[in-house]
Amino acid sequence: MDEKTIHAEGVVLRTIDFGEAHRVVTVYTKEFGKIDANAYGCRRPRSKLAAPTLMFNHISVDLLHGPKVDMIRDAEIITYFPITEDLMRIAYASLFFEIVNQMTPLNQKDEDIFFLLLNALKTFVERNPRVVTAAAACQFIAISGVLLRLDRCVQCGAPVDYDCAVDVLDGGVLCRDCFEHAVNSLPFTLNARALVDDLIAFDWNEQSHINVRAEPLRDVEKILVAHIQSITERPLQSLKFLRRIRSMPASA
Ligand SMILES: [Zn+2]
Repeated sequence: MDEKTIHAEGVVLRTIDFGEAHRVVTVYTKEFGKIDANAYGCRRPRSKLAAPTLMFNHISVDLLHGPKVDMIRDAEIITYFPITEDLMRIAYASLFFEIVNQMTPLNQKDEDIFFLLLNALKTFVERNPRVVTAAAACQFIAISGVLLRLDRCVQCGAPVDYDCAVDVLDGGVLCRDCFEHAVNSLPFTLNARALVDDLIAFDWNEQSHINVRAEPLRDVEKILVAHIQSITERPLQSLKFLRRIRSMPASA
């Protein structure tokens, strides 16, 4: 048995084509966290790696651990999720996957993230993809330990039990007094806070009902994007695609 071959179960987080028919496949595995591996020849239609190395697949994979790069020797689809059958689903799933990819280091195992990806994929097919991404992103931020402080003012510690604002660079909510001197704040209402609580508590197996209204959802999304981009210090590319799709007229 080849000692360098490792076996893993994972979710295809990102793919980048290179060369004539190859692809770098980023897989978030249950066993090793996020890994990058080359899948040589996988873009040839007859390649056994062609189907499993596509985005959003839940796969089992045999990897050859090389001195410079890892290589996918074999891969099989465990679960196929029909994400690419719907543009909104593609857009929101891509956004969540980009967030996870940008915010996770290579080779750091976290089973909670693996299961969150899997649960989100399953739910994208069943529920409103916009709400799924909001819930998955909130839970991912909680798992990553970078939640904003939302109950007390991050500057003075005063309790904030009224509609006010969030400063993502400061790391949370601002009271009325501190808000007056803030330069980069976003509106944050009690309704938005209640929605964040519901999204974090959302149970993927029970599929609990969440009462989602447009305005709090928009506020939460703005804060999520600003918060994530302030951590990664780069724009989320999937937002461009999402904005383009959302500006298109609804198809019949
Ligand atoms: Zn304050």
